[in-house]
Amino acid sequence: MKIFKGRDPKRYTLPNEQQLRCPVCQGETFHRAFKKLNTSGAELVGLAWANKDATCMICAGCRHILWFDF
Ligand SMILES: [Zn+2]
Repeated sequence: MKIFKGRDPKRYTLPNEQQLRCPVCQGETFHRAFKKLNTSGAELVGLAWANKDATCMICAGCRHILWFDF
């Protein structure tokens, strides 16, 4: 199943200069997607930054999703 058509996964460097690496499979290539955090989900976990944009990185190897506040 191909979710991200025509886009190759890339390596990313975090704001702290660290290379982004998957905690599950140690993979270093990710697909990037921008998501709007919606209030319904955020309220459940009591997050104050409910309506901010977030970035999710999907590991190209194991599909694990990492969320980032940028
Ligand atoms: Zn992975």
